[in-house]
Amino acid sequence: MNLENYRVSDRWSGLLQPPDHCPPSADVVIIGGGIVGVSTAWFLARQGVSVTLCEKGFIAGEQSGRNWGWVRAQGRDPREMPMMLESQRIWRSLAEDIGEDVGYTEGGCLYTADTQKEFASLAIWRDIAIEYGLPTRMISGADLVAQVGDAASRWVGGLYTHTDGRAEPHKATPAIARAAIRAGATVLTSCAVRGLETAAGKVSALVTEHGTIRTSTVLCAAGAWSSLFCGSLGISLPQLKVRGTVARTAPAKSSIRANVYAKRIGIRPRQDGGYTVAHGTVLDHSITPNTFRYARKFLPALKSEIGSLRVRIGKEFFEELRMPKTWSLDSESPFEAMRVLSPEPNPKVIAKIKKNLASTYPELAGVEFVEAWSGMVETSPDVVPIICADEKIPGFHIATGFSGHGFGLGPGAGKSIAAMLTHSDDGVDLSTFRLDRFFDGSPIRVFSGI
Ligand SMILES: Cc1cc2nc3c(=O)[nH]c(=O)nc-3n(C[C@H](O)[C@H](O)[C@H](O)COP(=O)(O)OP(=O)(O)OC[C@H]3O[C@@H](n4cnc5c(N)ncnc54)[C@H](O)[C@@H]3O)c2cc1C
Repeated sequence: MNLENYRVSDRWSGLLQPPDHCPPSADVVIIGGGIVGVSTAWFLARQGVSVTLCEKGFIAGEQSGRNWGWVRAQGRDPREMPMMLESQRIWRSLAEDIGEDVGYTEGGCLYTADTQKEFASLAIWRDIAIEYGLPTRMISGADLVAQVGDAASRWVGGLYTHTDGRAEPHKATPAIARAAIRAGATVLTSCAVRGLETAAGKVSALVTEHGTIRTSTVLCAAGAWSSLFCGSLGISLPQLKVRGTVARTAPAKSSIRANVYAKRIGIRPRQDGGYTVAHGTVLDHSITPNTFRYARKFLPALKSEIGSLRVRIGKEFFEELRMPKTWSLDSESPFEAMRVLSPEPNPKVIAKIKKNLASTYPELAGVEFVEAWSGMVETSPDVVPIICADEKIPGFHIATGFSGHGFGLGPGAGKSIAAMLTHSDDGVDLSTFRLDRFFDGSPIRVFSGI
């Protein structure tokens, strides 16, 4: 993939390259070329499994190329910890293993506290860190100054994990996709998957806009589109979307070392010398028919995120209402109609980010914002992924719902998903991620440790 002209916000049309052929069969076919799909393809191909990945747009065109780039264990729901620790192990040697730079570096992760009360509540996660052997510390004073310079005076302290890191989203996922190809995977872009064919109730083929691929095993790693795809197969998958606005600055000097999260600003240094910046607590949710459909299941998440959500009703309601729920496999599907989900960044949020950046880090006041973009975060009701085999359609599997923190988790998830698809055991228990948890009467638990 040529990244010379790559900007998250535009100019990506040159990356939409339709395949010149579609393989007639594969052991496994993956829907979605985000970090979860490509990591799974890489692990499968390395084991000699014949795998084809179909991406309707281009690799990393949606969430995986639009995120903040944080690779953190800090603050995670303990259910994700075993997979995340494995993921961090993979990130550490990823560049060497695939022979390409992914921008990974361990600069640490810092969550700041405005008050003593907030500082004390951060200690809850420090206790979880101890359980998992992470070097997480409560820091203040000179320690805090060492991470953020003069801005330290704004906070009473923070929670800091020096083994957390960051990577460059526009590099990492395409690089893993290329590694998967070198290992033997077939990766098709501009290739939307319309649906499945079954024989005797089991998956027998996958139908794309460019032809049919015979297979007995399919993985849906379709990010924000998973609910629509699964719905077309009669599988109810509760999923809602929130829009996150992000910007990057021109190169500039500052004392910021770590990924720093504060209520009004989230910032991390970039490999190009600039910073990726976002508002710490503003996410836009456009009410759609699914908001009502899944409202009860999302109540716990709503209670926990209420302070961050800006809820509105707009054109998205009618777009979703008009979107077909099923379609014929021999005509255009909604996935071809929208190759790349590329929402507009919210200008009010960009203005707030600029203001908060200047007031929090005066040394960065006036730094140019080179680009702003937005990404549609898809979330599950308990803000933890859904990874499982579907019970009604043998051969169909789901890996989605990474809920705003799947970039860091991606390589570890790919390893575990590859194990699930090959019926082997990589030591990570996936039962906690089953879709059924939202339907079998289990309480929907949202981790609110931080
Ligand atoms: C603004 C923002 C900030 C974030 N910050 C972080 C962060 O700092 N750290 C972190 O860990 N995570 C972060 N995340 C979350 C992270 O980006 C996602 O959890 C992760 O990228 C999800 O990867 P994925 O492969 O599941 O989905 P995606 O990257 O969304 O990929 C899914 C792909 O499937 C394709 N697709 C869908 N339907 C079809 C079909 N029918 N046929 C073919 N292809 C199809 C789509 O085109 C898409 O490319 C952030 C997300 C956003 C939006």
